[in-house]
Amino acid sequence: MLSIETRDCPVASECASCGRRRKLTVREVETDAGAACVTVCESCADRGELPPVSPFVAPMCVEAHRAHLGLAGVRS
Ligand SMILES: [Zn+2]
Ligand SMILES: [Zn+2]
Repeated sequence: MLSIETRDCPVASECASCGRRRKLTVREVETDAGAACVTVCESCADRGELPPVSPFVAPMCVEAHRAHLGLAGVRS
C-alpha cells in the first residue's frame, strides 16, 4: 500500500526508527514545519512507529519533501 504523497520520495538505506535495511517504505509525517517524509521499514510503518523529526531539521525535511511532491518554491 503506497501513499500517493510519498510516491516520488527517495527511500533511505535504513529504517529511521529501528535501523532495519529490508522492506523499507516512505511515510509522510507531520512536523511543526509541515508535512515531511521518513523512511521506515514495513513493521514500523504497520505499528505506526514513525520517528519524530527534530525541530532543527524539520524545515529542511519539509522543504525536501515539497520538492519530492513537485511543490518546491510554492508558498502555502
Ligand atoms: Zn523499522
Ligand atoms: Zn518526501
